[in-house]
Amino acid sequence: MPVFIPSSLSEATSLLAEHPTAHLITGGTDFMVEVNFNHRHPETVISLRKIPDMQLWNIDKASGVVFIGASVPYATMEQGELADALPALAEAARTVGSPQIRAAGSIGGNLGTCSPAGDSLPVLAALNASVHLRSSDAERTLPFSEFMIGPKRNAKKPDEVITGVSIPMTNGWQGYAKVGVRNAMVISVASVCLAIHDKTVRVALGSVGPTIIRCSDAESWINSQDITAIDDSVAVEFGNRVSQESRPIDDHRSTAEYRRHAVGVLATRLLQRGTNA
Ligand SMILES: Cc1cc2nc3c(=O)[nH]c(=O)nc-3n(C[C@H](O)[C@H](O)[C@H](O)COP(=O)(O)OP(=O)(O)OC[C@H]3O[C@@H](n4cnc5c(N)ncnc54)[C@H](O)[C@@H]3O)c2cc1C
Repeated sequence: MPVFIPSSLSEATSLLAEHPTAHLITGGTDFMVEVNFNHRHPETVISLRKIPDMQLWNIDKASGVVFIGASVPYATMEQGELADALPALAEAARTVGSPQIRAAGSIGGNLGTCSPAGDSLPVLAALNASVHLRSSDAERTLPFSEFMIGPKRNAKKPDEVITGVSIPMTNGWQGYAKVGVRNAMVISVASVCLAIHDKTVRVALGSVGPTIIRCSDAESWINSQDITAIDDSVAVEFGNRVSQESRPIDDHRSTAEYRRHAVGVLATRLLQRGTNA
């Protein structure tokens, strides 16, 4: 099996144009599991790990937008300047797998897999992030809401590489919370990102629907309240409304009923944390 290791983005997109059935790999933490379980049979692989442009990140204070290259690993997001700029992403990154997985696994790979349980994805949804894509002859940018189109399905075309994400910072609190069957090395059973920008609350849910869910009804309701004076009954009502917008299923990790309850509790707690911050 040929494995190409391009050293530039243009080389990678040219290789993909020449080998349209090639599989892309970054950290391999999803990809190699699929190969090992015989779910994927790549004839050709293009590794994106050695492309310097895809490992870059940048905080543009003037525009308030953070760019994170697709190959940036979770270990870089969970601390330092990136964590200060995007605390919810840092919290999500800290919950991913083990230190080994966080050293190899990337945001581009989380977007490539597009599992509803992907920990970075509710954060990208709540923060109104955009996904950058590039082929050998074109570039485009999609809002995250248009990028993820189903469970493990995204709008990336076969000849495109995800090059990175642009994430607007918020001027209010942001946080992420996840429920799993244990504290470490766990895929989420339910997850919530809550962000406050211009005194307006946004909330996005993971693992409780075919895609990440933005709770527009619960957002409209809470944003019609005075969010500087949230009492417990308002926070609980917000959680109930968030639960109602979830669309969970029963599977080997949890029941739909538990998931619906869990996102409500997480949303209530995040709102309490965010408005008391
Ligand atoms: C033990 C273990 C624990 C885990 N725990 C978690 C967890 O808690 N939370 C979580 O969200 N995930 C978890 N994962 C899944 C995985 O680590 C993440 O989804 C990670 O973000 C994948 O990144 P990667 O760079 O390793 O992707 P890869 O495995 O390299 O690729 C994943 C998919 O994305 C495609 N791809 C990769 N890069 C690009 C790109 N730049 N452009 C286009 N397509 C691309 C690949 O073709 C492939 O389809 C876990 C995995 C393991 C093995």
